[in-house]
Amino acid sequence: MAPVAESSPLRVIHTVCSHDCPDSCGVLVTVNAEGRAIKLQGDPSHPVTRGFLCGKVAKYLDRVYSPERILHPLKRKPGVAKGPLVRGREHEAFERISWDEALDSIAARLKETAERYGPESILPYSYAGTIALLGYGSMDRRFFHRLGASQLDRTICAEAGGVAWSSVYGKKIGTPTEDFRLARLIIAWGGNIHGNNVHLWPFIVEARRNGARLIVIDPYRTRTAALADWHIAIRPGTDSALALGMMHVILREGREDREYIDRMTVGFAQLAERVRDYTPERVAAWTGMTAGEVEQLAREYATTRPAAIRLNYGVQRNENGGANVRAIVMLPALTGAWRHRGGGAQLSTSGGFAWNEKDVRRPDLMLASPLGRPARVVNMSALGQALTELGEDREEGIGNREQGIGNREPKEESETQQGPRVHAVFVYNSNPGAVAPNHGAVRRGMARPDLFTVVHDIFFTDTTDYADYVLPATTFLEHTDIQGAYGHYFVQLSNQAIEPPGEARSNVWLFGQLGQRMGFEEECFRDTPEAIIRQGLGIGLGNGPSNGQDSNGHATNPGMEHITMEDLRERGHIPLSFHREGWLPYASGPVPTPSGKIEFYSEALAAQGVDPLPAYVPPVESRWGSGAQRYPLEFLSRKGDNYMNSTFANLEGHREMEAANRHRLEMHPDDARARGIDDGDAVRIFNDRGSLRLSAMINGSVPQGVVAGRLDWAKLHPEGENVNVLTSERLTDLGAGATFYSVLVEVEKA
Ligand code: SF4
Repeated sequence: MAPVAESSPLRVIHTVCSHDCPDSCGVLVTVNAEGRAIKLQGDPSHPVTRGFLCGKVAKYLDRVYSPERILHPLKRKPGVAKGPLVRGREHEAFERISWDEALDSIAARLKETAERYGPESILPYSYAGTIALLGYGSMDRRFFHRLGASQLDRTICAEAGGVAWSSVYGKKIGTPTEDFRLARLIIAWGGNIHGNNVHLWPFIVEARRNGARLIVIDPYRTRTAALADWHIAIRPGTDSALALGMMHVILREGREDREYIDRMTVGFAQLAERVRDYTPERVAAWTGMTAGEVEQLAREYATTRPAAIRLNYGVQRNENGGANVRAIVMLPALTGAWRHRGGGAQLSTSGGFAWNEKDVRRPDLMLASPLGRPARVVNMSALGQALTELGEDREEGIGNREQGIGNREPKEESETQQGPRVHAVFVYNSNPGAVAPNHGAVRRGMARPDLFTVVHDIFFTDTTDYADYVLPATTFLEHTDIQGAYGHYFVQLSNQAIEPPGEARSNVWLFGQLGQRMGFEEECFRDTPEAIIRQGLGIGLGNGPSNGQDSNGHATNPGMEHITMEDLRERGHIPLSFHREGWLPYASGPVPTPSGKIEFYSEALAAQGVDPLPAYVPPVESRWGSGAQRYPLEFLSRKGDNYMNSTFANLEGHREMEAANRHRLEMHPDDARARGIDDGDAVRIFNDRGSLRLSAMINGSVPQGVVAGRLDWAKLHPEGENVNVLTSERLTDLGAGATFYSVLVEVEKA
């Protein structure tokens, strides 16, 4: 593990990049004799990382040692109103306090809030600021479960796609990343591989060297699209129409794999009936392609073997995102592409990691809370509504019958979809002041003087501007964790490489301490990170013959039974047991769906009143919706290529990399000309929810009728706004996710 001489004062520590990225890179950190990290490199022994890091994390020490880091707990000064603070002077709004004071004060306020309004008036808000097991969800979940706080439905990024994939295949497992090198045709569908999944790229390069073609389907000309053999710039949200049109052509021409369909799938007859209407001509009218192009794509896909589809989460951030994913992922089941190594599809590999979440997160603790039942669930994609409209107070009240907004059925049995107003929000691993849709409503909610807000973060952000308390957080170099991935099949141990600067503390430490201050007596609030890692791996559970097996010899963590702490420490990464050379995920059954087969037709969706077959239903906010008369342009609120959602946007080096696109609005020349707009002109983009001033960029990156801007921190925009002033809290058709790419706008010269 340590490629330095024994006599060297340098140490090399194995860590894992925990940012929200499919690649989950193994990262080797070189630490000098003073305990300072001096170098980061990709783990050369990791079969997917292969020794390199992306441009965002290659500069990571700028972040770790940034002079702007929050180093101590802070409390808002009396009389300082909540709202945007001047960048670089945020500390003036806060006073430094000790951890003891912070923890005692926060615990006292949460207790008081819970007693007065009911514990569901407290809302945790977190997402994938770290995706490692402990940092993402462990002690924090225990804390909020035991408290009886509202549960957060973590839908903002991937839920629509996840629910959609699982409705067809049971769980999120797909083509191994390393096998893309064997493909002869690769379709990147709504995925900017070169920008956001860069460790897949070398495998694609290898495949192309061996004759493979790369087709990119994306309304936006991404870096990946620019490098493709064929870029198909379909209109936003028309992906299901295209996939169903491809199926129409495949069936019309008899190019399906009947033996595979008969053996491995259910619902083929219903699907065949459904796609009958999706003629190339109709699909062409929706997507902006020609009928000939639809036919060409279908034929090329059905006749090339192996053919692999890498779809990413872009396709599901539309009102019809669930149907988009369902339709696309049915393609390899129709052609039997799963039979061939290097064929199939990948959305995520996360379903391969069978963490023992029950013990890590302890949902049973909700029964020990004052509620005595599972708490209500609040959808994070409707935070603005949750903070401004949800619930109604009743003193001592946890029982009113007000209907919640943006809520879904609780994940565990509960009668409640209602409850009190939100009176306290605890933010960690997220920056909702920048990333949550409908920024105007979010900001109004967060500015409520009566809302008690705690934020645990590394830097001052758009969200800390509204905090009563700001607590200093650690980077992945500064705590111990364990991690799977959603772009490969390796479990990795992330060792603490350096001491946290100042008084920064991890999520596990923070919520363990808070639990103890709240008087929670359960031992689990004293667990060490290593103990939780063992629980996550199922080590030491049951009385079976080996780790991860119960007394009956059944796997408690299938795929992870062989993993020991000793091996992890020695090797850093260990493949899941099924991830062997030549493994084909769906070449044979059973499939973990209710029917045991790949489901073209989903009885489970039908039972929920959802269309059991994929269809193209034009989004309300699209050129086909009535709102297009006032707001005729479809807006893509894209992520920055050089940021990770809102992470890194405050760092000078990253901002320089992103400079060409910052505060720009990409337009098609026809749309610009029709509005008298030239490249570089100041423009105002607006709809009923808000307005944003940007400058026009006319560069051929979007099709006619589509405009695109990039997410940035609101406080880094001259007028304190970002693209989310335009996005809505309307939810996706499956999974109740956010619809960042179903947004209608108009643009005018400013
Ligand atoms: S952001 Fe992704 S590609 Fe970059 S180092 Fe982290 S895991 Fe690797």
